[in-house]
Amino acid sequence: MKYKRILLKLSGEALMGEQQYGIDPARLAEYADEIKKVHEKGIEIAIVIGGGNIFRGVAGASKGMDRVQGDYMGMLATVINGMALQGALEDKGMKTRLQTALKMESIAEPYIKRRADRHLEKGRIVIFGAGTGNPYFTTDTAAVLRGVEINADVILKGTRVDGVYSADPEKDSSAVKFNYISFDDVLKKGLNVMDTTAFTLSQENKLPIVIFDMNKQGNLLKICEGKNIGTEVNI
Ligand code: UDP
Repeated sequence: MKYKRILLKLSGEALMGEQQYGIDPARLAEYADEIKKVHEKGIEIAIVIGGGNIFRGVAGASKGMDRVQGDYMGMLATVINGMALQGALEDKGMKTRLQTALKMESIAEPYIKRRADRHLEKGRIVIFGAGTGNPYFTTDTAAVLRGVEINADVILKGTRVDGVYSADPEKDSSAVKFNYISFDDVLKKGLNVMDTTAFTLSQENKLPIVIFDMNKQGNLLKICEGKNIGTEVNI
C-alpha cells in the first residue's frame, strides 16, 4: 500500500446521491463499502465530512442570516453527516469514533489529537465532525488541519469529478486532466483544488492532496494501492 494513514475528505453534497437535499442511505452504504475495502488492507483511516447537503453558512448569510450563526449551523450539519457515516460504517462491521471540534459529549468525543492517534493505531476509523470549530472556515481546511495534526500521509479528496483539469471540461473540449501537478503550478495556473486557506496549509506542510472520483467503485482502494488515477497535488 502506498499510504499507511489517510485523511479522507468527503463533501456533504456527495451524500445526497440523486436527491436534492439531505442524506441518501444508498449512497452512504456505497461509501461505507468503499471505505471497508481500504480498511481491510490495514490502512489507518480518518475522515472529515462536509455539511453542504444540509446547511452552508454563506448561503444563510446571503439571505440575511448572521454569518457566524450560520457557520455554527453548518458545523452542526457536519456532525449529522458524521453520525450518519458512523452508523453506515458500523453496520458493515468497522469500529469507529466520532470526535467533534465543538463539544457535544452525549454523542461524540471531543477532538483530542492523542486520542485520535490511539484510535487509528487500534484500527478504528475516526470521523472528525464540526469542521475546525471556527466560523469562516471550511471543511476542506478542517481536513488539511486534522491531516497535518495526525501526520496523515495524504489528503484524499473524494469528489464527483475525476481530477483537476486545465479548464472546465464541460465548457472547454480541449481541457486536459493532470495526473500530477505541483502546488506552485496550481497557483500559477489559477486552478481550483481547495479554498486558499486549506490549500496553503497543505502546501506549507508538504501534505499531498489527491483529488479523485469517489463515486466510482474501487477508486479509493486503487489510490491507496498507488495507481495513478485522479490528480495528485504535491511538492
Ligand atoms: N463550517 C465552519 N467552519 C469549519 C467548517 C465548516 O463554519 O471549520 C461551516 C460553514 O458554514 C460551511 C458549513 O460548515 O458552509 C459546511 O461545510 P462545507 O461547506 O465545507 O461542507 P461541504 O461543502 O464540504 O459539504
